[in-house]
Amino acid sequence: MRCGGWLGIWFAAVVALALYGRATSSHAGSLGRCSLDGQTLAPIHQVYQVDLMREGRPVASFCCVACARDWPEVRAGDWWQVRDELTGGPLDAACACFVESRIVSNAARGCRLHAFRDWTVAAGHADEFQGKRVDNPLALAGKTE
Ligand SMILES: [Zn+2]
Repeated sequence: MRCGGWLGIWFAAVVALALYGRATSSHAGSLGRCSLDGQTLAPIHQVYQVDLMREGRPVASFCCVACARDWPEVRAGDWWQVRDELTGGPLDAACACFVESRIVSNAARGCRLHAFRDWTVAAGHADEFQGKRVDNPLALAGKTE
């Protein structure tokens, strides 16, 4: 009987872990596609991912800056998080250096915008791919009060 009791606890723990795993993976799955056009946010394109942040967490994710710019549901206080194209690290769009170059970041949208943390890296990309520095393309989005 005692043995069965331990087995029951073990079984409950396994079930709890499985449910927890499913809950977290389905949460990640809901952010696995672009909120605007449904394009899969493939890991290889994660450097182009843009997240709309609200109260410290992403409420919508996009496959590129062009999709994020077209998103209508931006509230006052929201902010945009982009990825540094060199490292893939998250970055506040307000602090990012944006470059428009001949490298297409999203073929479906014809998006050629690239974000970098470091302006020297951004300038290097611009030099190499005939790009030019552009103002934060997401600055206007989100100013609706
Ligand atoms: Zn998209």
